[in-house]
Amino acid sequence: MPKTVLITGGSRGIGRATALLCAERGWNVAISYVGNKAAAEQTRNDCRKAGGECIIKRCDVAREEDIISLFTVALDAFGTLDAVVNNAGIVAPAMKLMDMDVERMERIFDTNILGAYIVAREAARHMARSRDGKGGVIVNISSMAAKLGGPNEYVDYAGSKGAIDSLTIGLAKELGPEGIRVNGVRPGIIETDIHASGGRPNRAAELGPNCPLGRTGTAEEVAESIVWLMEDSSSFVTGALIDVSGGR
Ligand code: NDP
Repeated sequence: MPKTVLITGGSRGIGRATALLCAERGWNVAISYVGNKAAAEQTRNDCRKAGGECIIKRCDVAREEDIISLFTVALDAFGTLDAVVNNAGIVAPAMKLMDMDVERMERIFDTNILGAYIVAREAARHMARSRDGKGGVIVNISSMAAKLGGPNEYVDYAGSKGAIDSLTIGLAKELGPEGIRVNGVRPGIIETDIHASGGRPNRAAELGPNCPLGRTGTAEEVAESIVWLMEDSSSFVTGALIDVSGGR
């Protein structure tokens, strides 16, 4: 039986690479996007070419009603969900905390952490054995910033990712008895569009080599770890936070 996977922010970057790897395995994939419908359609078409069924749905993960409707559409299309990847995330232009306004911080926290909590809640409601679910897997995308703190640039982003790590640890304990494994992946510097949205399009090229492996990572390399955490071969892994960071 092919697995069915829901990925938030699957239109671009790490989410897109994960969707494609799932599709190569013949899995059904539901991906969300927020503003870039053309990129989501491209990912959907590429997934279908790769051998998996794929549907797309617009969803702002900062909005509970959008998330509920994303789950409804995915379940209507595929009937069940085996795994959910909490991937959608944003960063804001680099600045010190002293210069940040509350509107910026709310946007970061609403998207990166409140959204992840609501997505995890909806996944748990569907998968929990005590609610007649069949168990499943949740993978939360954190960041090395959770460990490093994002000083002078993104302490808000780093804090939101630290909360993702806490969510992963707590939920692994809470949901293990429900047959749900919960793990996290902490990417290092990965070549995606996110750096341009942080106001530093060359950030990956500048900082990437500053790690023991001496280079920037690719979205595909992160996707390999995410997909492994959804595969049966990781069946005894829960509460793990895997650094995919070139040793950074
Ligand atoms: P990208 O900017 O390449 O892609 C972001 C994705 O998230 C897009 O699909 C985008 O949709 C979607 N998205 C953005 N805002 C929202 C929202 N409010 N609601 C729903 N979807 C949204 O980012 P990456 O692939 O680089 O990042 C993916 C994850 O990896 C993030 O959680 C990020 O924090 C994390 N990460 C990335 C690192 C890196 O170096 N790239 C390092 C560490 C962590 P749309 O296309 O419609 O805009």
